[in-house]
Amino acid sequence: MATFIVRSPATGEQVGEHPVHGADDIAHAVVRGREAAAVWANLGWSGRRVRLLGWKRSLAGRMDELARTVAAETGKPVHDARAEVLLALVHLDWAARHARGVLRVRRVPSGMLSVHQRALLGYRPLGVVGVIGPWNYPVYTPMGSIGYALAAGNAVVFKPSELTPATGVFLASSFDEAVPDCAGLLQTVTGPGSTGQALAEADVDKVAFTGSPGTARKVAEVCARSLTPLLAECGGKDAVIVGADADLEAAADAVVWGAMANAGQTCAGVERVYAVESVHERLCALIVERARSLSAGETYGPMTLASQLGVVERHMKEALAAGARAPLGGPESVRGPYVHPVVLVDVPEDSPAMTEETFGPVVAVNRVRDLDEAVRRTNASAYALGAAVFTGSRRAGLDVADRLNSGSVSVGSVLGFAAVPALPFGGTGESGYGRIHGAEGLRAFAVPRSVTVKRFAPYADLTSFATAREKTARAVELGRRLHARF
Ligand code: NAD
Repeated sequence: MATFIVRSPATGEQVGEHPVHGADDIAHAVVRGREAAAVWANLGWSGRRVRLLGWKRSLAGRMDELARTVAAETGKPVHDARAEVLLALVHLDWAARHARGVLRVRRVPSGMLSVHQRALLGYRPLGVVGVIGPWNYPVYTPMGSIGYALAAGNAVVFKPSELTPATGVFLASSFDEAVPDCAGLLQTVTGPGSTGQALAEADVDKVAFTGSPGTARKVAEVCARSLTPLLAECGGKDAVIVGADADLEAAADAVVWGAMANAGQTCAGVERVYAVESVHERLCALIVERARSLSAGETYGPMTLASQLGVVERHMKEALAAGARAPLGGPESVRGPYVHPVVLVDVPEDSPAMTEETFGPVVAVNRVRDLDEAVRRTNASAYALGAAVFTGSRRAGLDVADRLNSGSVSVGSVLGFAAVPALPFGGTGESGYGRIHGAEGLRAFAVPRSVTVKRFAPYADLTSFATAREKTARAVELGRRLHARF
């Protein structure tokens, strides 16, 4: 079988070699997954919960091992990788504990026309879910689909990014070890985009894709051919809005972390800041002061994807050529494999640094007249994933949050929503569609089943030719009058 080599983005040294799985391997994995899903179904809610929590505990015990694998493949510092694993554990725990409550069969009101029926709503698993993941958070991001899909009763075939296959292999093998009576429920296949395409073309019941909008379009085209449902978690161009009476120290601290953590390679990372005129200068000074103290290679790692270096450099050059200023760094900050912190100000809104995902430790801080203009500019983006708001009062922050298009908003912090498992996560527009996390994240991997149970014979059975026509007419007229009145 053909293989591919993975190299450390920091040192270039080889850190792994993995098979390139193709359509046959994936077809085999899907069949095996379907068999494991049947065993999984028989375990019931509590059997699945106990096993998922067992897997969680085992991952927690092996956190360092997993974090080292992530660090070797992405280049990010081990302490960052540990924090990433913790976030994934928080979500796995929530999914395991809440699956029954969210998805079990429940009675719903049957309504006056169907008062003779008992109405029951339940959710059954889809079957086998294909998960295609990115490299920037190779545990946390795909686990937002994997953990919730398993908790909802499905099997998963996971195709990690070709930059982080060992992390994917670790997840599947740790599941098999922790849950031996359901081995094969989570399988990892490795390879480049063609392996992802083969997974989308396979006999899976849903594809959960996380990656760039361009690739999402290709996956959507493949899924369209077989009407396979798709969940697409794509990029972002998240903005932070800073009002005149905001705590500027707190805002600057959050902006710098949100923009620079993980070398800016965060789908919901901070890429734009809109600060009202009266505080713009002071905020910029605070951001520059903080960002200057960071050290690429220590505070955060290298650019994991080497080709991104060119994108980051182009965004800066085009911004500067269009009249932006750089109070910290500039194109010379790109010293592969690292990019040193860059702060841009007064960047024209039509510049790629404001419209495209930069995915580097670069933040653009623009001035706006007031919060209305900040909201307008934030919403003008083709992306709508996350956003953050800093204002003097929480109420003002909530008012601004209410007017934003993004799927998630943090008031008084950045990325606050990512660590709250009950909150669904996802975007619209170029940021994709569908939701992971929370109750919606469980329902994303289940199919509703509606059942009625006839309790007694109604006065006029509208689904029988034996019902006298006058009775039907009387019942319909009664219904019409009620609807005309209320
Ligand atoms: P990418 O689109 O290049 O690749 C994502 C995955 O798709 C990889 O596993 C890749 O092998 C696979 N793939 C490539 N071509 C394919 C094809 N034709 N068919 C099927 N699969 C294919 O993205 P990336 O560079 O790995 O990740 C970075 C992107 O992911 C950024 O845009 C980032 O914002 C986004 N992201 C989004 C979220 C979120 O939850 N919204 C989280 C993390 C990252």
